[in-house]
Amino acid sequence: MEINPRDFREQSEKACHDATLRAVLDHATRYFQAKRGAALETFADRETHFARARAARLAALSRLPELLEQLEQTATAAGTRVHWAADAAQAREIITGIAQDCGAKVVVKGKSMVTEEIALNPALEAAGMEVWETDLGEFIVQLAGEPPSHIIAPCIHKSRADVAALFRAKLGLLGLSGLDGLPGQENLSDAASIPELTLLARKALREKFLAADLGVTGVNIAVAETGSVILVENEGNIRMSTTCPPVHVAVMSLEKVAATLEDAADILRVLPRSATGQKMSSYVSVLTGPRRPNEQDGARETHLVILDNGRSEVLAEPILREALLCFRCGACLNSCPVYQTIGGHAYGSVYSGPIGALLSSLLLPAQDTRDLPFGCTLCGACKRTCPLGIDHPRLMLRLRERVCQSSGTGLAGAAHSFLALHPLFYRLAVGAARAVDPNLDLLPRLPGFPGLANFVDTRQPPELKKPFSAQLLRLRKKQARTKKPHTNKGDA
Ligand code: SF4
Repeated sequence: MEINPRDFREQSEKACHDATLRAVLDHATRYFQAKRGAALETFADRETHFARARAARLAALSRLPELLEQLEQTATAAGTRVHWAADAAQAREIITGIAQDCGAKVVVKGKSMVTEEIALNPALEAAGMEVWETDLGEFIVQLAGEPPSHIIAPCIHKSRADVAALFRAKLGLLGLSGLDGLPGQENLSDAASIPELTLLARKALREKFLAADLGVTGVNIAVAETGSVILVENEGNIRMSTTCPPVHVAVMSLEKVAATLEDAADILRVLPRSATGQKMSSYVSVLTGPRRPNEQDGARETHLVILDNGRSEVLAEPILREALLCFRCGACLNSCPVYQTIGGHAYGSVYSGPIGALLSSLLLPAQDTRDLPFGCTLCGACKRTCPLGIDHPRLMLRLRERVCQSSGTGLAGAAHSFLALHPLFYRLAVGAARAVDPNLDLLPRLPGFPGLANFVDTRQPPELKKPFSAQLLRLRKKQARTKKPHTNKGDA
C-alpha cells in the first residue's frame, strides 16, 4: 500500500465516508482515552510529573549537541559502536552494511517508527534478507502490506475479524511453520478470540527469533550519562529481538536523548501512563553495551545509529522546534477529532494525527506536505492532552503561515493587512470590489489569491451589498435613538 502526504485531501475525503473505519477508530480511541484517564488518576499531582517530564525533554533539546557527543563517548566506552546518519539514505546504508557484515539472513525488528521513517525494511529485503516485524500490531500491518496507522497501535484501524481473515490468508502462504498443536490458521473463524490470534502470531514469530542473525529496534530514550538505550514494550518481543540474535542495532532520532538516568525516570513516569494507560510498561529494558563475558544473554555486538534526517534544521526554528519535545505517546492522536474520523493512513506518512501532521511537515519536502497543517480544526484537544504541553495549534498556525508565504498568499495577506490599517484605502478597495464583483465570484480566482478559490468553493460568502462599517454605523445610531436617558439614582 503506497501512501503519500500529497494525497492528504483525497485520502481524508475517502476515509470520511468509510463508516467501518470510523466505528473501529471510535471504539479504539475511546478505549485508549479511558485507560489513560484512569492511569493518570494514580498520580497524586499529575501536573508536577508532567512538568518534570517536560523539563527533562527541554533540557535535552537545549543541550542537544553536547549531550549527543557525551552519548557517543559513553556508549562507545560501554562497547557499542555509534554511527551518525545525516539522512534516511545514509541510515539505510549503515544498517544494511552492518547486516551484511554479520552475514544476516533473517532480521527481527521491534516496533520502531524511526525505522518506518527511513523505510528500512525494503532496503534490507532488497539486500536479500528476510525481515520480520515482531510487535503484534506491526506484524499484522506487515502481513497486510500496509504502513502503521497509529504511533503506538499500528493496526488500530483493523477489527478482530480483519485480523482473522488476514491470518487465514497469509500465515500459511508465507511458509510460517511452527503452528503445530494449534487450530490451523486456515480454520480460523472471523470470531476467533484475541488470545487465539495472539498465540498463532507468537508461534509463527518464535522460530524467527531463534533463526535471527540481527535484531533491529528503535530507542525510547538514550541516556547520555551512561550510554544506555531504554526500550519500553508490553509483548516481550523487543527483549527477544535484543537478546536472541548475536547483533543488535538500535536506531534513534537525535532528539531522543536524555541527560541522566534521573531525567529518563521522569520521562518514564509519564510515557506509559499517557501511551497505554499503564503505570509502567510490562517490560523496560536498559541496555548498556554488548553482553559481558560473565553474562548469560544479550547481543555480542551492539550498534547505535543516531539519525538527523532534518531535525537539526527544525531545532533552529524558534517556534517549531517544540515539536521535537514529543516522546511519541500517541495520546494526541486519540483525542483528535480529525484523526478519530480519518485514521492514520490518510495523513500519507508514518506519523499521523496532530503530532504527525507537524513532524511530517517539518521532516518531509514542503511541496508534499502543504495540506497537512490545514487538516486541523485548531480545537486544541491535542494541546490539552499532551503531557509535555506541546502547543500543537500554535505550531500548526506557524506552518500555515509558512505555506502561505511560500505559495504567494502572503502577498494577499500583506495587502489585507495594509488595507485594514488604512481605512480610506480599505473603503475605496471594498467599494471597487462591490462594483465589479458583488458576489465574490471573480476576485478569489485572480492570480495571487491561490488559497481563496478553495475557500469560496466550499463556503457561501455574504453578498457585498452594504459595507459592514455602514451597517455598524446605522446600528449604533439606532441604538442611540432608542437608548433611555441615563438617571443617576444617587442624585435623586
Ligand atoms: S505530541 Fe504530546 S501527546 Fe502527541 S504523541 Fe507527542 S508527547 Fe504524546
